[in-house]
Amino acid sequence: MNPCIAVVEDEKDIAELIALHLQKAGFQVQSYLEARPFLASLKRRTPDLVILDLMLPDSDGLEVCRYLKSAPGLSAIPVIILTARTDEADKVLGLEMGADDYVAKPFSPRELTARVRAVMRRAERRSESKALRFESGLALDLDRHEAEVRGRKVELTSTEFRLLAFLAQRPGRVFTRRQILDELWKGEKIVIDRTVDVHIRNLREKLGNAAGVIKNIRGVGYKIEG
Ligand code: CA
Repeated sequence: MNPCIAVVEDEKDIAELIALHLQKAGFQVQSYLEARPFLASLKRRTPDLVILDLMLPDSDGLEVCRYLKSAPGLSAIPVIILTARTDEADKVLGLEMGADDYVAKPFSPRELTARVRAVMRRAERRSESKALRFESGLALDLDRHEAEVRGRKVELTSTEFRLLAFLAQRPGRVFTRRQILDELWKGEKIVIDRTVDVHIRNLREKLGNAAGVIKNIRGVGYKIEG
């Protein structure tokens, strides 16, 4: 599926012009004339990139940007700020709020499309680097939920992957069974400590040569190292 770009811009002509060019460049476009319907749409679907006008009728774009960049699950969505304001301070503020780029009006749609492509490439590289690698040959791709050992893919259940990722993101730190349970099975009372041991045993079996990366700290819990 083509990447989806949300355009939040209250000037209809500009919004249409942007949409036209982005569609021609192969993107899907969702346009919003105000901030509120855009924010509501995030509950249904998150776009791959947001083009955000700073002067909106119902909100300040900077506030929207600040919200996006501080919200769990949304903060990785790249944001390009669009504005007629020529004030340098706005640009600085926008970038401080976490915006990925800034385009001043009037702009050429071709220039904007080029910026969109550049920002998306940067975001992809960022997410690619979200792979965790260990000396034992274990590698985890947190975006794709995939694990491999020396290039060989390991088939894990979703629980096994989450358990492995939880430990792997904090290498060297020991977690008790209780901490692991709380993280993976929040509030489910029927889960017992032994559940963790069972999953760890299965994980080790599947990891084969790299099984030693999961260390059992007797009487305490587990950690990942090496
Ligand atoms: Ca505006």
